[in-house]
Amino acid sequence: MANALFPTTVIGSLPRPAWVREVILDRKAGRLSEEEADRLLDRAIESALLMQERAGLEEVTDGEWRRESYVKVFAERVRGFQADLNPSGGLPYPAVVAPIAYHRPIAAQEIEFVRPRTGRRVKATLPAPYIIGRRMWHPEHSKAAYPTREKLMADCVPVLRQEIEAVRAAGADTVQLDEPWLSTLVDPGFREKEGVTDVRYEMDLCADLINQTLDGIEGIETGMHLCHAHFDHKHATEGPYDLIMPALARVRIGTIFMEYATPAAGGLASLARFPEHVRLGLGCIDHCDRRVETPEEVVARVEEAVRYVDRGRITLHPDCGFSPSVQNPMDLDEAYLKLRAMCQAAEMLRARFR
Ligand SMILES: [Zn+2]
Repeated sequence: MANALFPTTVIGSLPRPAWVREVILDRKAGRLSEEEADRLLDRAIESALLMQERAGLEEVTDGEWRRESYVKVFAERVRGFQADLNPSGGLPYPAVVAPIAYHRPIAAQEIEFVRPRTGRRVKATLPAPYIIGRRMWHPEHSKAAYPTREKLMADCVPVLRQEIEAVRAAGADTVQLDEPWLSTLVDPGFREKEGVTDVRYEMDLCADLINQTLDGIEGIETGMHLCHAHFDHKHATEGPYDLIMPALARVRIGTIFMEYATPAAGGLASLARFPEHVRLGLGCIDHCDRRVETPEEVVARVEEAVRYVDRGRITLHPDCGFSPSVQNPMDLDEAYLKLRAMCQAAEMLRARFR
C-alpha cells in the first residue's frame, strides 16, 4: 500500500447512477449490444475514477459499474449458468445448469480499462467459491450438473485461479474475494432460515476454498471481504464476529476487510480475537447510514480498533460496496462525501501516530 499507516481503499461498488443501471439492464435484456453498453460505461467509469481520486483514495475500482452485482458477474462471464432461475431471498439469482467452464475474463477487462487511467492502486474484486455455491446452486435446476453445492464450489477454484492470473497480468495491485456469506453465519436466525445445521463444517469449507483459490498466488496483494450483506439500506443479518474468528485464523491471505462501522457488527470487541498473521481491513464508514460521518467520528472508530489490532496492520475502507445490486439505488454524492471524510480521517490519524 502507498501509505505505511492507515492506507485507504474501497470494497468495490459505487452507487450506480440511474442511467448506468438502465444500461446494465438494457444490455441484459438484449436491447443494447455489449459493445454499445461498453462504449457508454467507459465514459461513466472515467468519472467514477476521478471521483475516487478527488475523495483522496489510494486504491480504487471501476465502481463495478459494468456489473449487475458483485456475484452475478461470475455467472455472466463463466459458462454453465442460466440467469434469474434462483429466486433466493426474493431477488432472482442465476443458477448453474451445466458444468462450469472458463470462457472469457470475469474482471480482467475491468482492470485493463482502469489501469492506464489512474495513477492510484487498482483493486480487482471476485466472488469467493463458497458464496457462488450458496447463491447460484439450485436443488432442482442444478442437480444434473452438480449433485451438491460443494461440487460446484470446488469447480469454481480453478476458474478463479485462472482469473486471478488474468487480473494480475492486467495490472491489478490487489485481488479481493468477496465472501459475505461467512459473516452472515454468525446470526442464529439466518442459519436456521438457510438450513445450516453444522456451522463449523460450513466455516471450514469456506476457509478451505479461499485457501485453495489463493494457494501459491504471488505478485498481487490478496484479500477477502466479509460483511452482514445488505439490501436497500438494511442488513440481512447481525451479530458480532466471534464465532467466525477461528475460521479466519485458518485463512492464508493478506488482508481481511471487515464491516465494523455499522451497529449490526455488534461493536469492535470481537477484534480481540482477530488473527495476528493478517492485516485488518477496518470498515469505518457506515454505507447503510445516509448521514455522512465527520472525519472526527471516523478517527474515533479507528482509535477504538487500535486498542485491539496494531495500527501498522490496519487499512481503512467503507463497510461494504456502496451498491451491491443493480436494484439498490444509493446516492453517489453521499458516497463521495463519506469517502472524503474517511480519507481526511486517515490524514489526521497519520499525523497523530507518526
Ligand atoms: Zn459487503
